[in-house]
Amino acid sequence: MKYRFLLFFLLPFFVFAQKKDDDYAYSVIEKLSSEAFAGRGFVEYGMNKTADFIAEEFEKFGLKKIGDSYFQEFSMPINIIENAQLKLNGKELKYGEDFLVDPASKAQSFHSRPIYYFNPNDFANSLNKESDFIDFIRTDMLQQKEKHVVFPPHSFEVDSLNQYYKHWPHFYRPEENKNRAVIYFSSDKLIASLSQKQDSITRFFVNENFYTDSLSIDNYVVENKFVNDFKVKNVIGMIEGENTDSLILITAHFDHLGKVGNTIFPGASDNASGTAFLLELAKYFSQHKPKYSLVLIGFAAEEAGLVGSKYFVENSLVDLAKIKFLLNFDIMGAGEEGIQIVNSSVFTKEYELLNQINSNKNYLKQIKKRGEACNSDHCPFYEKGVPSFFTYTLGGPGHYHDVYDTAESLNLAEFEDLKKLFIEFIDKI
Ligand SMILES: [Zn+2]
Repeated sequence: MKYRFLLFFLLPFFVFAQKKDDDYAYSVIEKLSSEAFAGRGFVEYGMNKTADFIAEEFEKFGLKKIGDSYFQEFSMPINIIENAQLKLNGKELKYGEDFLVDPASKAQSFHSRPIYYFNPNDFANSLNKESDFIDFIRTDMLQQKEKHVVFPPHSFEVDSLNQYYKHWPHFYRPEENKNRAVIYFSSDKLIASLSQKQDSITRFFVNENFYTDSLSIDNYVVENKFVNDFKVKNVIGMIEGENTDSLILITAHFDHLGKVGNTIFPGASDNASGTAFLLELAKYFSQHKPKYSLVLIGFAAEEAGLVGSKYFVENSLVDLAKIKFLLNFDIMGAGEEGIQIVNSSVFTKEYELLNQINSNKNYLKQIKKRGEACNSDHCPFYEKGVPSFFTYTLGGPGHYHDVYDTAESLNLAEFEDLKKLFIEFIDKI
């Protein structure tokens, strides 16, 4: 009785542990989301380490190089936030969980100053008449001078307010923004991002739970480094097909948001999962000759604004006119609710083929249609007339650009089905 009881508890654990241990895709995701890769950004060379890892895997699978290297190197400007601290009302806040720094922020350390509380309602009311709005801006600017600015909690969905505050620092001369900070309290989810520019101001986005109307700003520090020519690299490998006249491109970005202080953005779903998917396809087609030659590309610096794919398109190592189709994968760790495909309502013939394979084999719950959207690395190709799909999974925990997007939060429930679906699609297109 006792042993049966034990077995009952241990059995699911062993099954679970085994699934994750011998699964190549999961081991890739776990590795790329680990501390050693520092969030695959610009800190501790996380992004370049990832590129090296992908090239090693390409080599292992016997992928061909285009030229004499798997890499396409280039340099780019980037504002690197290296560290950020914020202490409000006597409490040290946690980066990524309680607050974020705007990625364009400038290095700054605490200066004691009076606080100006912005009033979103007065702003909204001023919009009724143009003259009221101009008056509002004038008073707002005067009252804010030489003060820290605090934005009480509200939703940032009010677009005009967003616009006003985006341009706000430029109303002042850069030296007038020195040694002061803007703190936005927001009811929206904190979403981290990157910037290739540097502002004259330091902005903090803070969870609304920390707001009081008699706020004490006790301390803050932002350390940044602006690098004009940070060297990064795309990774490109090739598998020869039966037909070498046309190419199928398989792409996924491998970078993520990096690390701020000790806080890592693991990016398991975005896009260690798509990188693992790309490597799984590389592994499969290196053993099963495809119909058309495949070019597999891991893109760098997607999170800074599709920088790697834009660079590739401008300096292409393949003839863009020879590309029969491009498949870009970004966020592949879920799929319980199916997938959605950008451009599927543009390339209907290919959508029909994919949908037909899916319903014949009963792989995924649904393949949702979507029109064009410039939201991942397919876009620079699409804009040059390359037919392309961008596939992302639906369902799962939904962590996005935050500290919770960890390997443990993914179950890869549909990963095998996704693989089979796209292998068949690539063979039939
Ligand atoms: Zn992504």
